Amino acid sequence: MILNAGEDGVLQSELWKTITADSREGSRAILRLERRRLIERRRELFDGRWTYRVLAKRRTPKIDSIIAVPCAFCHLEGRCSESGVVSPIKCDRLTAWLSSLAQTDPP
Ligand code: SF4
Repeated sequence: MILNAGEDGVLQSELWKTITADSREGSRAILRLERRRLIERRRELFDGRWTYRVLAKRRTPKIDSIIAVPCAFCHLEGRCSESGVVSPIKCDRLTAWLSSLAQTDPP
């Protein structure tokens, strides 16, 4: 649920309702996730009360970002290796794609 909430995250109170946990059980679970650095919590005033918004540190990759990688659908991928005749080190398509990434603004 936290991963699916994406960059907006989810309020703790919404989490408790959805997983039918009380705040004590939920808080323990959230603290475990936080200690493992899987989530972050941001303090937020909601309906006049302080609560936390929970966000996943890891984001689910979007399909567009995968489709754009030249290796994803390359017919040479099976024969491509660092020491091979076809190599990512010498690949023009990979170099062009990486160069285009370097020239775009970060999201
Ligand atoms: S590095 Fe180049 S040749 Fe190798 S799999 Fe990627 S696109 Fe294909």
